[in-house]
Amino acid sequence: MTKRMTTQKKILYESLEKLGHASVESLIEYIRINYKQISLATIYRNIHSLITENKIKLVKLREQDVLETVKLDHIHFVCESCGNVIDLVVDKKKLISKASKDCMHQIHYCDMAFYGVCQNCTRKGKENEVRL
Ligand SMILES: [Zn+2]
Ligand SMILES: [Zn+2]
Repeated sequence: MTKRMTTQKKILYESLEKLGHASVESLIEYIRINYKQISLATIYRNIHSLITENKIKLVKLREQDVLETVKLDHIHFVCESCGNVIDLVVDKKKLISKASKDCMHQIHYCDMAFYGVCQNCTRKGKENEVRL
């Protein structure tokens, strides 16, 4: 790490790491509840500067945009039932090179997400069926 993070920035980063994926609003709410001393202006400023430093990023999803800490390349799976956002490890480079070959266009970047029902919700659905 080139630049040391300020304490507030660290709190923000670690909170987001804990939450996994969070909308700006829910991250702010989490910090306001757990760290009452940090002002709203500071939170906004630190979110902005962490994005500029490429430590966190805003992921655009169908229903809402979520923040996450920058980590290995992955694709998102969004549960349409509970709204949970899950990281899926998919080799994007492979996907891009195959698509490039197939369509003969030069593809540089791929931004996509999967939508469906997560394991938890599937299990719950089955339990409910049994009870009925
Ligand atoms: Zn679910
Ligand atoms: Zn993610």
